[in-house]
Amino acid sequence: MPQKALIIVDLQNDFCPGGALAVTNGDQVVPVIQDWVNRFHHDHQLIVTTQDAHPSNHVSFQAQGGPWPPHCVVGTPGFRLHPDLWLPADTPQFHKGFREDQDAYSGFEGLLSEGGQRTLLLADFLRQNGVTEVYVAGLATDYCVRATVLDALKEGFKTWVIADGVKGVDVNPGDSDRALVEMARRGAELI
Ligand SMILES: [Zn+2]
Repeated sequence: MPQKALIIVDLQNDFCPGGALAVTNGDQVVPVIQDWVNRFHHDHQLIVTTQDAHPSNHVSFQAQGGPWPPHCVVGTPGFRLHPDLWLPADTPQFHKGFREDQDAYSGFEGLLSEGGQRTLLLADFLRQNGVTEVYVAGLATDYCVRATVLDALKEGFKTWVIADGVKGVDVNPGDSDRALVEMARRGAELI
């Protein structure tokens, strides 16, 4: 049974350069995360991905009074994971923010998505697979990575943040650095 899980947060085209809600240099984390994927795959540890999976009229979009332009709408290219990231074919995918009236930043609000159905919560899935430690990377440091890391700690997982495998939005300068400090203060280890 795996003890460790790599959680790849929202490494989607819309959060990468050229996307609807691009994180500056967001794609620079791809080769870093690829190294971690290869290592976890080799060691038979668990790898999971999370994705924003919004309907086209999602509550977080500006047309509905939300803060963001439309992004990660299911079925659009922006929803897909970055094409340069290789993942094992059976990598479990967790979708979040799929209800039009509910936003979700944390991967722990995501449900396992397989065969058109959404079932298990991420924390339950990890526990069922014997996971006690999680390694978190992806986009964006100051939003979904932060929320995912804080929830991982709350759920009792030993939590590592892959420092060079995350990038932030920095709506206010320094948001990402502050998020990393907060994650560390709450008990996450930077690696
Ligand atoms: Zn979103």
